[in-house]
Amino acid sequence: MSELQLAGDGPVARCRHCGKPAVGPCARCRAPVCGDCCVLTDGGATTFAVCVACERRGGASLRGAWLGMLGWLAVIVVVLAALGIALALLT
Ligand SMILES: [Zn+2]
Ligand SMILES: [Zn+2]
Repeated sequence: MSELQLAGDGPVARCRHCGKPAVGPCARCRAPVCGDCCVLTDGGATTFAVCVACERRGGASLRGAWLGMLGWLAVIVVVLAALGIALALLT
């Protein structure tokens, strides 16, 4: 492999754990990780790669992230419903 490509912010990201070329970002902390330092986890429809640090910290589950997203969706739905009620009252 050419060392020229690995200097600076080249296209090859380095694994944060062992320094090998990363295969992709961790689904939780977005840090680049290589295939040896990530754990594949089933997040429902898709399979996510979570780095070993995140896997040790909170398990490989993405339930927290999903709940956060669902919370935001609920807020948006409530706001839209309130707007709809306000419009219905005005007309
Ligand atoms: Zn690694
Ligand atoms: Zn991570």
